[in-house]
Amino acid sequence: MKRSEVDLSKISPMMKQYLDIKKEYENELLFYRVGDFYELFFEDGETASRELELTLTGKNAGLEERIPMCGVPFHSVKPYIEKLVSKGYKVAICDQLEDPRFAKGMVSRGVTQVISKGTVVDLELLNEHDNHYIASVLDFSYIYTICYADISTGSIYVSILPHQKDKLISTLLNLGILEIVLPNNEDLELIATLKGTYGIEVSISEGELEDKYSNVYESLEEEHYIHAVKHLFYYLVVKELKDLSHFKNVEVIVPDDYLEMDVHTVRNLELVETLRLKERTYSLIWLIDKTKTSMGSRKLKNWLMNPLKKIDLIEERYHKIEVLNNEFILRENLRNSLYQIYDMERLCGKISCGSLNARDLLQLKLSLKELPTIKEIVSDLGFSTSLNTHEEIYKLLESAIYEDPPVTLKEGYLIKEGYNKELDELKSIRSGGKDFIANFESKLKEQTGIKNLKVGFNKVFGYYIEITKGQIANVPEELHWERRQTLTGAERYISPELKEKEALILNAEEKIIDMEYNLFCEVKETIKKELLSLKDTANEIAELDAITALSVVAEECHFVRPTLNTEHKLEIKNGRHPVIEKVSNYEYVANDIFMDPSIHTLLITGPNMSGKSTFMRQLAIIVILAQMGSFVPAEKANLPIIDKIFTRIGASDDLVSGESTFMVEMKEAKNAICNATEDSLILFDELGRGTATYDGMSLAGSILEYVSKHIQCKTLFSTHYHELTSMEREIPSIKNVHVSAKEEDGNIIFLHKVKNGAVDKSYGIHVARLAGLPEEIIKNAESLLKTYESKEKKEPKEMQIQFAMDFEEEKTDELREKLKKLDPLHMTPMDAMNALYELHSEANKK
Ligand code: ADP
Ligand code: MG
Repeated sequence: MKRSEVDLSKISPMMKQYLDIKKEYENELLFYRVGDFYELFFEDGETASRELELTLTGKNAGLEERIPMCGVPFHSVKPYIEKLVSKGYKVAICDQLEDPRFAKGMVSRGVTQVISKGTVVDLELLNEHDNHYIASVLDFSYIYTICYADISTGSIYVSILPHQKDKLISTLLNLGILEIVLPNNEDLELIATLKGTYGIEVSISEGELEDKYSNVYESLEEEHYIHAVKHLFYYLVVKELKDLSHFKNVEVIVPDDYLEMDVHTVRNLELVETLRLKERTYSLIWLIDKTKTSMGSRKLKNWLMNPLKKIDLIEERYHKIEVLNNEFILRENLRNSLYQIYDMERLCGKISCGSLNARDLLQLKLSLKELPTIKEIVSDLGFSTSLNTHEEIYKLLESAIYEDPPVTLKEGYLIKEGYNKELDELKSIRSGGKDFIANFESKLKEQTGIKNLKVGFNKVFGYYIEITKGQIANVPEELHWERRQTLTGAERYISPELKEKEALILNAEEKIIDMEYNLFCEVKETIKKELLSLKDTANEIAELDAITALSVVAEECHFVRPTLNTEHKLEIKNGRHPVIEKVSNYEYVANDIFMDPSIHTLLITGPNMSGKSTFMRQLAIIVILAQMGSFVPAEKANLPIIDKIFTRIGASDDLVSGESTFMVEMKEAKNAICNATEDSLILFDELGRGTATYDGMSLAGSILEYVSKHIQCKTLFSTHYHELTSMEREIPSIKNVHVSAKEEDGNIIFLHKVKNGAVDKSYGIHVARLAGLPEEIIKNAESLLKTYESKEKKEPKEMQIQFAMDFEEEKTDELREKLKKLDPLHMTPMDAMNALYELHSEANKK
C-alpha cells in the first residue's frame, strides 16, 4: 500500500501524526519512534527493509490492509542509519518529545535531527584522518562562492572561485566534499557531473538563515561570502535541525595565498591516496603522518593540501621543526602527552549537536588533564603559546563524572558521589534499602523459625519472601503475607512492610536515574559555554601535533631544511622520492636537479621504466613538502616559491577517472598552458603519447616550444620522441637530460641516474624482453630495428620532410582501408557515387 492511497478518515491517530510529520520530510527516510523501536512505514519501510535486509512486516492502523512497516530497536539504531547514509539516503529521526509516562493522550513527536552524508556527527562513518565537509555553492554568474563546513568539528570556511566549472569541481574534489547544497537545480550539467561522475550528494535548498549564529560571520565584509554562509546555515539549521554552537568565526580562504594544485596533480602525485587502489597506504600523507591525535592528522593533511606561498610563514614551521629536532627529549615527552589527547574537536561537535555520553566527557577530562604538561613543554621549547588549560572545566568533570559510566544516559551511573547532596541521599536510600532486605531476611528467619526463607527481587514481581513448599504450614497467619507467585517447589509472598519499602526503593532508583541525567545535562551546558575556547585549544594542539610529526618524519626519513628563493633558482642535491624510497626493495638512486634562472625546461629522455615519471614526481613532491613547511628528502635544496603546479602524466598512467582519451590529455595541457605563470611548475610526462606518432611528436614539440618561450616557468618534459632533443640547440632555455641505463649481456640494467644530455638509444626491445615476450618476437624486432636504422643512415632526411612523407603513406593506407571496407555488390548507385566522391576528395586533401 502506498502512502498516497491512505483513507485519512479511517486511519488511527498515531498514523495520522506520522503522516503529518512525514509530509515535511518527503526526501528523507523517516525513523518514527514507537516505544523501544524506530519504525518506518510505507515506501520508507520498503526501502529500508531492502537496503538493510530486514523483514518487511505490517502494522494495523485502522485500515483494511496492514501498512508496510519495518522496525529497528532504538538502542541499536546507529549502524542502520550509518548504512543508509553511506548509501546516499537521508535519514530523519522522529523522537518522542515528552516522557510517555506523563503524556496526556498521544505522545507528541517531532523530528529532532536529519542526517545526510555531509552532516554526520557521531557515527562510525567519520574517518578520523579526514574532515567531512558539506558545502554550499552559489553561482554569481561571474564568480562562484563556496562555503564549506565540517559539522563534526565546527570548522567553516568561505572562498571565492573564478567562474570556471572545471576549477570549481577540482576544488570540491580536492576538499573531499561529500555533500553540496545548491539553491536550485538550474545547472543540470553541474549536478549530473557531481552526482554521476563523482558520487557527491547534491541537495537543493533555497533559503538563507537570518540572525541566528551571526557571530560566525560578523567579521566578514564581502556580501558574497555572507550569502554563502547564510545559505549553508539555512540548510543545516532549518532543514537538518543542527545546533551550531560550536562553530567559530568563518575563515576566509584566499586561493592566491596557497600553492594551487588541481585535482589531477593531487591524484597523480599520490598525495593522499594511491592512484590505483585509492588507499591511504603508500600515499605521501601515509608516509609523513606521524601525528599522535586525530586532530593533528587532519591538520597535517590540511597543510599538505594547502602548501603556503609566504616565505615567513613557511620559515616559521621550519624553525619549529629544527627546534624539535634538537630537543629530542622534550619532543618525546610532548608526543607522549599528545598521545593522551582525544579528538577534542569532535567532542566539541558532539557537545553541541551529537549524542554526547558520559564516556565522551571522560575523554574530554583526560585530554584536559594533559594540557598543563603540554603547556610547560611548549614554553620550554621556546614557542609562543596562549594555550588555555581549562582548569575550571577539568575540575568540574573530575568532580562530576563517574569513572566507569555506561554508553547510555538512562541507566544512571553517570555522576560521582560527593557531587550532589540530594543525589547522594537518594543513593543511600537505595543501598539502605538493600541493607534493609538483608536485615529483614534474618529478622524473618528468627520470627518464623524457617531457616531456608529467602528475600529476593525480580523485575516482574518486585520483592518477595520465598518459602519452600514443605515450610508453608509454618508461616504465621498474623504476619498478613499475601501470595505473589507460585513456583513448582516454592511459594512467594509479600508483606505490608516489604511493600512499603519496595515503593521507596523503586522510587529512589527511578529518581536517581532522572537526577543523574539532569545533572549530566547541566554539566554539558556549562561546558557548552566554553566551547569556542575549547576549540581554540583543540586547534593549537592539532598544530603542535602536526609540526611535531614533521619533525619526526624529517628525522626518520633524513629530510633537510630547504632554503627558499624568489629568483627562479632550483637546486636539489641528491633528491629522493620519499615514498618509493621507503617502500621499494631496491636502493633508491638519488638525483640532482639544477636549473638556474635561465633554464626553464628539462627535456627528459630515457628508456621505459628508467625512472622518468618518478624523477618528475619527486620534484613536485619536494616542492610541495617544502611549501607546506616540511623539510625535504634531499641532501640540500634551494627552491623557488612556486605558485601553481600542473601535471600531465602520460595517458596510459592515468587511471584516475577512467578518461584516458587524447582529448582529456589535450584539455589538461591547455589548462596548464592557459593558467601557468612564470612562477609555476609544469610536469608534462610523455605528452602526445595518446595519438599517432607524428601527430603526437609535432604537438609535443610545439607545446614545449610555447611553454619555454612564452610561459617560461620551470617545466619538466619527458618524452620518448628522441627527435625533440634537437630543440636544445634552438631554444637556450631548454636543457636535455636523460635517465641512464646500460646494456649487459643483451639485457638492460636501469641505473635510474639522471645525467646531462640526451639518451642515444631507446631500449624498448630490452624492456619487451624483460617483460617476457617470446624470444622469436624479440629477435625479429631486433633485426627489423637494424634494417630501419641502416635505412635511416643511408638516406638522411630533414625531419620535416620525413614527417610529410610518412604522413603521405599513412593517408594512402587509410584510403586503401576505406576502399576495402566498401561492398560494391550491395551498394545503390547513389551510395557508390557518394563513396567515390568522398574518396576522391580525401585523396586530394593535403
Ligand atoms: P618511466 O617513467 O621512465 O617509465 P618510472 O618512473 O615509472 O619510469 O619508474 C619505473 C620504476 O623504476 C618504478 O617502479 C620505480 O620504483 C623505479 N625507480 C624509478 N626511479 C628510481 C630511482 N631513482 N631509484 C630507484 N628506483 C627507481
Ligand atoms: Mg613514465
